[in-house]
Amino acid sequence: MNTVVIGAQWGDEGKGKIVDYLASSADVIVRYSGGANAGHTIVTGGKQYALHLVPSGILYPDKTVYLGMGMVIDPAALFTELAMLKENGIDWEGRVFISDRAHLVFPRYREIDKKRDSERKHPIGTTGRGIGTAYSMKSERDGIRIADLFWKEKTAELDEADRAFIAPYIERLEKMKVDITAEMYRLKGKKILLEGAQGALLDLDAGTYPYVSSGMSCASGAPVGAGMGPRDIDRVLGVFKAYSTRVGNGPMPTEFNTETQSELYHYVRETGREYGVTTGRPRRCGYLDLVALRYACRTNSISDLVLTHLDIYDELDGIEACVAYDIDGKIVTDFPADIGALNKAKPVLEQFKGWKTSLKNCRSYADLPEQARSYVEFIEDYCGTPVNIISVGYERSDTFMRLDPFTRGAEHGNGL
Ligand code: GDP
Repeated sequence: MNTVVIGAQWGDEGKGKIVDYLASSADVIVRYSGGANAGHTIVTGGKQYALHLVPSGILYPDKTVYLGMGMVIDPAALFTELAMLKENGIDWEGRVFISDRAHLVFPRYREIDKKRDSERKHPIGTTGRGIGTAYSMKSERDGIRIADLFWKEKTAELDEADRAFIAPYIERLEKMKVDITAEMYRLKGKKILLEGAQGALLDLDAGTYPYVSSGMSCASGAPVGAGMGPRDIDRVLGVFKAYSTRVGNGPMPTEFNTETQSELYHYVRETGREYGVTTGRPRRCGYLDLVALRYACRTNSISDLVLTHLDIYDELDGIEACVAYDIDGKIVTDFPADIGALNKAKPVLEQFKGWKTSLKNCRSYADLPEQARSYVEFIEDYCGTPVNIISVGYERSDTFMRLDPFTRGAEHGNGL
């Protein structure tokens, strides 16, 4: 039973928390894409962990995690993160494995990333972690994989700085490297949780190109990046917030107006703690964009939606969500590829009543106030996809399920 967790918006939806929540019932957890540009925050037992490369399941002492072949790995960032885990009492040795087909990120890639972005007429707003450069080197067939570190002719070609950088990590990487394709085959029939990075709208192909990430953040990237085939995926969970956020540049049709809606903007950003884990950058905030969410459901065959941050709306009298775009007077409900059109799009909003009470202690769907359930059910109807997990706070325990994605046979029911 293999379950993929992706972000169904522009990233930062709370995937880390949801993977951590589901990891207790998974046998192994695989991160399939991206690099140290991603940032997951997990809060458990009052402690907060920021993970960038290591899959979120690592916090459970009995779980094995894999860094997949779709990832690009900066070994300096990886071993810093592993050291942080050890300092916090998390014994990871023997539980973290890396695909020998994953690519490496060298320090000089960071400079290339920043230089390229600063030279662009329309900068993307890259995190500058060398991720974009690592992926472009990979497609140009100039990348270096973990396996290549053990291929003498290849390492002989590395320049002095790259060789000096990698030298202290080779022995440790050798102990952790695996053929992930063989591992996944060996684990057939087990419960594998596949963790995505960024979000569906930042996917290189389906996202708001060129304002996208350079890796595959779509669900189809999961089997590729984990070393399995598409028929090995059973369920796809799309995590989304009760509102929208975006970091960096690029279209965001439902962004709150900084002048006329500054109070709402400030309220959502501060209540939702909308600041980047990796960069500390304040995130752009806006209404839930159902046009974009439905597009994410369709392009990723999302079987279950996972709604997070519903609690952020606890104090509002009314809530609005975008159900269509008005582009030059034309009403559009399919998410356009044209960035110019997206930049001009004005959200057509649907109104909902607020619930004006704390959701913090809700532990089942029935516990949610009627107004919150109406909001959830509208989303389900609009997207044609059930919302099967709901999160009402940042703690692991502030989460409840309507249908367990690992339940066998669940493919035919929607859990409602
Ligand atoms: P990811 O990259 O998708 O894992 O998302 P981040 O970790 O960057 O952002 C999610 C942030 O929201 C983290 O600080 C979480 O602790 C927090 N969070 C997740 N779910 C909820 C929720 O339902 N309510 C609130 N208030 N915070 C949440």
